[in-house]
Amino acid sequence: MIKGDKNIKDFDLLNDLLLVNFSDGSEAVISLRRLRDRCPCAGCEGETDALGNLYKPKPQPKTESSYELKQVLLVGYYGLKPLWADNHTTGIFPIDLLIELSEK
Ligand SMILES: [Zn+2]
Repeated sequence: MIKGDKNIKDFDLLNDLLLVNFSDGSEAVISLRRLRDRCPCAGCEGETDALGNLYKPKPQPKTESSYELKQVLLVGYYGLKPLWADNHTTGIFPIDLLIELSEK
C-alpha cells in the first residue's frame, strides 16, 4: 500500500543488503537473495491474461551471479530496477513491494 506522497529518497548497498530510504523517514532493508527471488517481472512471476489465468514460466536456473548486483537504477521516485550480474534487468520493484520484502 502506498500512502500519501511517500517516495524513494535514496538507496545504498551494504554487503548483501539493499538499504532504501523513503521520503517519510522510514526505510527498507532487503537481502539481495530475497530481492532476486521475488523479482516481479513477467519472466519470473508470470503473466495474467484477460481472463485471470496465470501463466508461469519455467524458472530460470539461477547461479551465484544471479544474486550479485551490478547496479540499481531509480525509476521515477516510485521504484527500483536492479541490474543483476547475470544480465537479468527486467524487474522493477515498486515501493509497496520493497516495504513488503523488508526485514522486519
Ligand atoms: Zn525477473
